[in-house]
Amino acid sequence: MDKDRIISKFIEYVKIPSPSYKEGDFAKVLKKDMEELGFEVIVDKAGEKAGSNTGNLIGFLKGNKDVEPIMFCAHMDTVTPCENIEPIIEDGIIKSKGNTILSADDKAGIIGILEGIRYVKENNIPHGDIEVVFTICEEVGLYGSKYLDYSKIKSKMAFVLDASGEIGGVNVQGPAQTQIYGKFHGKAAHAGLSPEKGINAIQVASKAISNMKLLRIDEETTANVGIIKGGSATNIVADYAEMELEARSLKEEKLEKQVNHMIEAMEKAAKEFGAKVDIDVKYAYPTFLLNEDEPILDIIKKAMEKLNIVYKPSTTGGGSDTNIFNSKGIKAATLGVGMFNAHSVNEYIACNDLVRLSQLVASIIESH
Ligand SMILES: [Zn+2]
Repeated sequence: MDKDRIISKFIEYVKIPSPSYKEGDFAKVLKKDMEELGFEVIVDKAGEKAGSNTGNLIGFLKGNKDVEPIMFCAHMDTVTPCENIEPIIEDGIIKSKGNTILSADDKAGIIGILEGIRYVKENNIPHGDIEVVFTICEEVGLYGSKYLDYSKIKSKMAFVLDASGEIGGVNVQGPAQTQIYGKFHGKAAHAGLSPEKGINAIQVASKAISNMKLLRIDEETTANVGIIKGGSATNIVADYAEMELEARSLKEEKLEKQVNHMIEAMEKAAKEFGAKVDIDVKYAYPTFLLNEDEPILDIIKKAMEKLNIVYKPSTTGGGSDTNIFNSKGIKAATLGVGMFNAHSVNEYIACNDLVRLSQLVASIIESH
């Protein structure tokens, strides 16, 4: 593995801003790099549906070994702040200057995939057909994988390089998520002269929240109020308030039960105060669960064993492209890429882990 090239490529990638919906500049660079590696690359139409300035990149590399095709995936978009990222290397650790994210999430995943494949090619390691998918808009709702052109994908197995934490970690189970939007309509009145004539929408919303079971519901289920807005002045009885909530569970029926409970709490509060509530429910993504004997996990275990990486299966509370792939019949697992403190200005990754991640990708290809 060429450590210097891996690190300089990573530095080059993190310096190209690629916030969700604006992955276009980065996608152009990646497409060129993939083509230089021998990939045939297409840009699908997901961008039009998601509202991004590019679609997903789908790359095909013809194999010379008679095995089923496999897919590697990472997302191109990042959270913010991601403008003018200045990576700093200190004691073998890459971090940002402190005023932006680093964007190892998920550019470390992209590096691992491309450099691992480069190694396989340069060392003439036999491999089957390889598909590489770099998605858009993962961070804002998994839109890249939701709108991916699946007619172009042959693989029935996908290695998604996008989990925080150490290399060796593998997410084999994840929850489904539903988002709930509540809009409370009360009645305005002068708060000093005639408050009894008003219906305070903020009060209704807070009553609804106080009636809800939230945060940790059980070991498989969570729920949260994330956003609440409303009102215009202290001397006006607020006639409007809105809130955004979510619920997640590893069991679909538990999720449904929790969502119904949250809806009922809102309806009940509105009724109690004589207010009106409009509720919008959006099912974001389904659960996934890989059985221990799933062939994809055998490949991962074998690949890790060769590199003395300890295989650590885990359940995640988050959602990723992995949820969507599994729902489309592609067995997918999310691999730890060695990044820490993702989604914050304290994000970092070790130089050696970028190398190890590339080795792991090469080892997966070799072990298949
Ligand atoms: Zn990510």
